[in-house]
Amino acid sequence: MPVPDLPCPPDAGRLRPQTLAVRGGQHRSGFQETSEALYLTQGFVYDTADEAAATFAEEIDRYSYSRYANPTVTTFQERLALLEGAEACLATATGMSAVFTAVAALVRSGSRIVAARELFGSTVTIFDQILPEWGVRTDYVTGTDPQQWERALATPADVVFLESPSNPMQDVLDLARIARLAHRAGAVVVVDNVFATPVLQRPLELGADLVVYSATKHIDGQGRCMGGAVLGGTDLVQGRIRTLYRMSGPVLAPFNAWVLTKGLETLPVRVRAQAAAAADLASWLEAQQGVEAVRYPFLPSHPQHDLARAQMSGGGTVVTVTLAGAGGRSSDEAAFAFLDALRVVDLSSNLGDAKSLATHPATTTHCRVDPQLRASMGITGGTVRLSVGLEDVEDLREDLEAALAACRGRPRPKE
Ligand SMILES: *Cc1c(COP(=O)(O)O)cnc(C)c1O
Repeated sequence: MPVPDLPCPPDAGRLRPQTLAVRGGQHRSGFQETSEALYLTQGFVYDTADEAAATFAEEIDRYSYSRYANPTVTTFQERLALLEGAEACLATATGMSAVFTAVAALVRSGSRIVAARELFGSTVTIFDQILPEWGVRTDYVTGTDPQQWERALATPADVVFLESPSNPMQDVLDLARIARLAHRAGAVVVVDNVFATPVLQRPLELGADLVVYSATKHIDGQGRCMGGAVLGGTDLVQGRIRTLYRMSGPVLAPFNAWVLTKGLETLPVRVRAQAAAAADLASWLEAQQGVEAVRYPFLPSHPQHDLARAQMSGGGTVVTVTLAGAGGRSSDEAAFAFLDALRVVDLSSNLGDAKSLATHPATTTHCRVDPQLRASMGITGGTVRLSVGLEDVEDLREDLEAALAACRGRPRPKE
């Protein structure tokens, strides 16, 4: 059976995202199953030795070995590509393997990366510890400062890498402007779009060349599997990236691809509901005693609020709160008291989940970031990142209210 060509369904071009999220990429087998089949198989068999030889000679296009391609993984890739408006997609085992495969395929010894400073911790480790050993240098800029981008991209570069909104302070970067500068410098623009998801922001339409995801976050959205994806034009994704992907093997497992495919069916509904609750809680939190600042892209107080409204169709599912010290407590102690008093919201470093999750970036996700750099990113001991889930928003509000009271000095009784 040949590897099916994009797009599927055949009239995908005229269908809207919510329909594509449910139906994109499905190729029913002869059994006419309703749900997407799970092809839990390493390899595929041949009718004749001739056919096997022709497959390996790449004279015919068919499934041969699941490191190269697997029908369940193909369904996930096609569905996500349709949602993203991308020509091509390769699904990876984790978000970090998506970041690494994309970047590693674009650089060689002597290459230069220009990156926004506000990045996921493991990405910083790749840029600062792994790639320098290979002769690849990274220059950082403050993502929200246009002059720093202009200065850095006055010199040729191979890759520009950024996240927007950034983790955890939710800086919003001007994707179209940065892409223009990057292209003039000869760079390929890679955007980590985890916080926004394909539902709220489409970087390829704003000039990015590649989008990377951790599917572990909203795409699964129910805390079950790891996964990732690289999306972009056929020339890049099915060219340099595909060779590295197929030969080094950071592929998504079929079972995880199946779970994530089912995750995509509800992604637009979940993300919109979570973003509505996050927006609601963000403006409520801003008015609460003991809260020093709230960062949420769609709040008018956000420093890049207009830009966020222009390039995103929703403010996202994460609210970043900075708690004030009070009553002899430092802001660090206030944040710990707040987190310990939560009863509905769980303490966990994941995000995008149906369950609301809170984390203290300074001592968890960003504990290895140099303290000075952390401070320059705006992360303090009082900063709490809240990933808003799908619970009733009133239950979340009551939980946050009681935790705020507890961090002002009234300990919350254990039930
Ligand atoms: C989680 C995350 C990653 C890494 O994804 P994994 O699936 O954990 O490998 C990369 N970028 C951002 C913004 C993330 O939140």
